[in-house]
Amino acid sequence: MNGEHKITSGHRARTALVYLRQSTLVQVREHTESTMRQYALADVAVSLGWAPRDVEVIDRDLGLSGTSAAHRQGFRDLMSRVCLGEVGAVLGLEVSRLARSNADLARLAEMARLTGTLLIDSDGVYDLSDFNDWLVLGLKSTMSQAELHIMAGRLQAAKLAAAERGELRAPLPVGLVYDDGGMVVTDPDAEVRAAVADVFACFAAAGSAYGVVAAFAGRKFPQRAYGGAWAGQLRWGPLTHHRVLQVLKNPAYAGAYVHGRHVTRKAIDAAGNVRTVTAEVPRAQWKVLIKDHHPGYVTWEEYLAVEARLAANWTASGARTVREGSALCQGIIYCGSCGGPMVANYQGGDRANYECHSRRDGKKAPGCRGIATAALDGAVARVLLDALTPEQVALALAAADEVTGQHQRAGRAAELALERARYDADRAERAFSQVEPENRLVARTLEARWEAKLAALAEAEQALESARAALPPLPDRASLAAIAADLPALWHAPTTTPRDRKRLLRTLIADVTLLPEPDRAKARIGIRWHAGTADQLIIDRPRPSGIPAVTPSPAADLIRRLGPTAGNDDLVAILARHGHLTGAGRPFDVKAVQWVRRVYGIPVPSPVAAGEVSVKDAARQLGCSPGVVYYWIETGQLETRRSSGNRLCIPWTPDTEAECRARIAASGHLNPAARRTRPRKTPRCPAEQPQMSAPTGNI
Ligand SMILES: [Zn+2]
Repeated sequence: MNGEHKITSGHRARTALVYLRQSTLVQVREHTESTMRQYALADVAVSLGWAPRDVEVIDRDLGLSGTSAAHRQGFRDLMSRVCLGEVGAVLGLEVSRLARSNADLARLAEMARLTGTLLIDSDGVYDLSDFNDWLVLGLKSTMSQAELHIMAGRLQAAKLAAAERGELRAPLPVGLVYDDGGMVVTDPDAEVRAAVADVFACFAAAGSAYGVVAAFAGRKFPQRAYGGAWAGQLRWGPLTHHRVLQVLKNPAYAGAYVHGRHVTRKAIDAAGNVRTVTAEVPRAQWKVLIKDHHPGYVTWEEYLAVEARLAANWTASGARTVREGSALCQGIIYCGSCGGPMVANYQGGDRANYECHSRRDGKKAPGCRGIATAALDGAVARVLLDALTPEQVALALAAADEVTGQHQRAGRAAELALERARYDADRAERAFSQVEPENRLVARTLEARWEAKLAALAEAEQALESARAALPPLPDRASLAAIAADLPALWHAPTTTPRDRKRLLRTLIADVTLLPEPDRAKARIGIRWHAGTADQLIIDRPRPSGIPAVTPSPAADLIRRLGPTAGNDDLVAILARHGHLTGAGRPFDVKAVQWVRRVYGIPVPSPVAAGEVSVKDAARQLGCSPGVVYYWIETGQLETRRSSGNRLCIPWTPDTEAECRARIAASGHLNPAARRTRPRKTPRCPAEQPQMSAPTGNI
C-alpha cells in the first residue's frame, strides 16, 4: 500500500478503527457490494500489521446520511476516541467521504494531526503531521465537495427538465396509479376509487375535514405503501384527520401535475444541531404546475373551492367559522363605527347580543353599539328568505339529489367491500382446488386460508345488510320538493340546526354591518351579498328589558277617566270593547290595568258604600289601631260586609260608634286610666324591684 512505511509500531500498538457508512437504508439493502468492501477493511488493517483483536469496526452509522455529524453517534464515538489518543489509525473506503461535511472532516483531520493518528483509505496512508499529506487530504475533501455539488446540480437540472414535461415520476397518492405506459390513471380498483371520491363528496356535504372523519367512522380508507417490504401493496385503515387534509390538499386529485410543492430547508435547533425541515410552498411558487395532466377526482375549480373552504375553517389564522350558537350572523357581522368584528355574547338560553369586539380590546369608538341578536337575525333572515324565492325549485332538486347521493354512497362502499371479499374467496378456492391432494401440508394451509376468506365474505355480507338496514327510508322526490318549496317553514323547522341556517346564509350573504344610526330607537343594517350588491335596512331596536312599553294615550285617558269609579275587571271589559291594546301590543288584563293605575297614580274606586266605613277609617275615628277593630270583627262584636273586591265594610251608625267607644273605655288594655282604678291582683315580684349591683371585686 502506498505510504505503508508511515505506519510505526506506536501506531500498531493502538487500536485500528474501521468506520463504515452508507447514506440510506436502501443503499444498505441494495448496494451490498459496497458494504462488503467496507467490512473487508478490517482484513486490510490486519494485513498492515494490526493484531486482529486491536481492529474494531464502527458500523452504527449504516443508513444515516453523512451531511452532518449531529445524528451519527458512530462518527461522534470515533472523534472522541481519536481525541483520547487511543487510536492508531482510522480506516475508511475513501477517507474524504468519512464525513460529507467539510467541517466534520477538517475537525477529524485536525484531531488526527494532534494525536498522531493515521487515516488510511484505498489510496494509501495519510500522516496528518506531514504537510504534504495534510494538503492532499484537504484537496481531496474540497474536490469531493465540488463533485457532490456538480453531480447534484446535473441531477436536479435533469429532474426539473423531466418535471417540466410532466414526465418525472413521483409517488402517486392512493386512488391514482401508473398504467403500463407510464401514464397516470385512476385506480382500477372500484372500491379505492369510491373511497377517494367519497372523501370529496363528504367534504362538500359536511364542510370540514373533521366532518369527513365522522362520515367515515366505521369505514376504512386505503393507503398505498411505498418502499419497504409492503411496497405497492394496499393497506386499509381508519381515516384520520391528517389523511383527510392530505387528500383534500393534493392537487394530483384535481388532475394536475405539480413539482416543487414542498421545499426542504436547513435549520439549527436549540442544541446547535443542523436539522432539515420540510415546508409547504405557496402555489404561486410551485416550479411546475400542469393542469389537466391526468384524469382526476375533482376539477381544478373544485380543488380551489376546497382549498378556500379549508382556509375559512382555519381559526388560527383568524377565520370565523360557523359555530353551534343560535346567533345567525356570527362570524360575518362587523361594526360600522370602528370596522372591527362583532361577537355574539350569550346571556343564558337563546338570549344574546352582538357586541363590538373592540370593547374587549378597549378600542371602542363613540359610535360602537351592540344589538340583540334576535332583532337583527330576524330582519336578515327575512331579507334572505325573500331573496331565495326564485331559487326554491333548484334548491328542492339539489336537496333531493344530495340525499339520494348520500344513500347511494353509504350502500356502495359496503357493496364494493362485499365484491372484494367474494373475489378473495373465489381465488382461495381456486388455489385450494389446484393443489395436488397428496401435498397435504400445502393443501391444509390453503384450506385454512379459504375458510378464512369465506368467513370474511360472510362478514362483508352482514355489513352490507346492516348498512342497508341502517339507512333511514328515503323520502320521495315529490314530498322533498314540497318541503323545499316552503322555504320559510324549512328555515324555522326545529330539525334545522343553527349551523345549517348559518351555512345557507353564508352561501348568499358575504357580511352584515351594523351601521351608525343617529336615532337611538332604530338600527341600520348593511347587507353585502356575494353577488356584489349591497342592501340597507332600518329596523326598530328592541327596548331594553325592564323598561315597559308606554301605554298608548287613548287607553291611558280612558283608564284615567273611568278608573276612580270603575273596578279593574270592568275596565278590562271596557278596554277590550273599544279594541285598545297595551304598549306591547297585547290585550289589557287586570295586571296591565293595575300597572297603568300605579304609573299614572289613578285611585281605585272606594269599595265602601254609603253609611259604611273601612276598618282603617273606623280605627282612625276611634283613635285605636286597626288590629283592635279586626279583633272585634273576629270575635263577632262588630258586624261587617264583604265588598266586591273582598274588602271588609263596616255599617257605621252612631250606635255602633258609641258601642265601640264604650268597649275602649272599659278595656284596661286600651285605656290606661281604666287600668289604674283597679287593684293589682298579684304583688310585685321581688325580682322586678330595682337592685343595686354588688361589688364584683377582682375579676
Ligand atoms: Zn365598534
